[in-house]
Amino acid sequence: MPNAETLAPAPDLAPVTAAAVTTAHRICPLCEACCGLEIKHSAGQVISIRGHAADVFSHGYICPKGASLKDLHEDPDRLRTPLIKRNGQFVEATWDEAFAEIALRLPPLIAAHGRDAVATSIGNPAAHKMGLLMYFARLMKGLGTRNVYSASTLDQMPKQLQAGLMFGHWLSLPVPDIERTDFMLILGANPMVSNGSLWTVPDFRGKAKALRARGGRMVVIDPRRSETAAVADQHLFIQPGSDVFCSWAW
Ligand code: SF4
Repeated sequence: MPNAETLAPAPDLAPVTAAAVTTAHRICPLCEACCGLEIKHSAGQVISIRGHAADVFSHGYICPKGASLKDLHEDPDRLRTPLIKRNGQFVEATWDEAFAEIALRLPPLIAAHGRDAVATSIGNPAAHKMGLLMYFARLMKGLGTRNVYSASTLDQMPKQLQAGLMFGHWLSLPVPDIERTDFMLILGANPMVSNGSLWTVPDFRGKAKALRARGGRMVVIDPRRSETAAVADQHLFIQPGSDVFCSWAW
């Protein structure tokens, strides 16, 4: 490969020649949409991140969060090692030291205050990590606390409860078939921004366009003229607080 091409470096990095650049294809770990990323990197430095056009799922689409992963990676405040608080200050520690600290301090706390004195929080990226997926549940069982928080408990637990009651499991989640439907009714959701979250529909804009191109219609009911309402065939405003009457009327 010729090495004449010079890629734009981050402002504080030396120029990187094309010959030294490696391209990696990964999925974005920030949400369920799993958009395909094309990452160019060299000597441990990320050169650029863009959507992977050949990704069969997202077709090159990424949202601003995916595009900003380089900034996240290089953020000087990003945790790169465990921290232990000593005399009111966070001090860098090895993993062995961190586990030893937990073993020293957590059991007495549980003994004194009960298992529910512990709370855990797990974020979206954990769903993209096999190790965390396999062992987090075991950790929860071992801790025995009822206080388990996650991205799900912030914004989607009612959906999971409904799925559990209707279909027998909290992860039996029905999703709209946007690629085949002729009429799509969206109530109070904004997939243009969220990519559907649990629905997992990267490039919603492209899929909505395809729906209309094959003669389909999309109607949005929302008190706000959301980004999704702006691209719908019809937007029906609803008075805030009147959702129940709207649902009842059907
Ligand atoms: S929608 Fe955005 S945050 Fe979610 S996977 Fe795609 S690029 Fe990442």
